Amino acid sequence: MTNHEIKIDFNEYDSIGDLNIPDKLLCEEAVKALETSHSPYSKFRVGVAVLLQSGTVLHASNQENAAYPSGLCAERVALFHWGTSHADDPIVAMAVTAHTNEFELTKPITSCGACLQVMAECEKRQHQPFRILLYCIDGPVWEVNGVQSFLPFMFFEDRLIQQP
Ligand SMILES: [Zn+2]
Repeated sequence: MTNHEIKIDFNEYDSIGDLNIPDKLLCEEAVKALETSHSPYSKFRVGVAVLLQSGTVLHASNQENAAYPSGLCAERVALFHWGTSHADDPIVAMAVTAHTNEFELTKPITSCGACLQVMAECEKRQHQPFRILLYCIDGPVWEVNGVQSFLPFMFFEDRLIQQP
């Protein structure tokens, strides 16, 4: 038997004011994206802003449906949009934030496993990791350099793609 230990690391900033200007602006863009959230069921709004290498910023939010599983997280709305129309423009960073009137959020929300897996695939497609900023409004910001820090056992199976 061999025991393996995996360590992850991330940076924590006490507030958005401790970020550099571009990261602060990206978090603020994620807050703007909250306005487009369609979340009448959970009343939990999630906003995402994705900074591309060209400087373009993509916005997305969670989109719920009366048939609950038909809805989609903000992160995947953003990343599938990137995949369909901006895949030649690499993702540099992604800011995620949330808001609800139902209770107080005191720390950043983290993305679900399905969104982490899609982030991993996007990193693979563009052959480089991107930074993820998890922003709690009026609270701390967590920064991770590449999704592998959040999902060390992400699923990759290169044999699924036929090699010529
Ligand atoms: Zn998700």
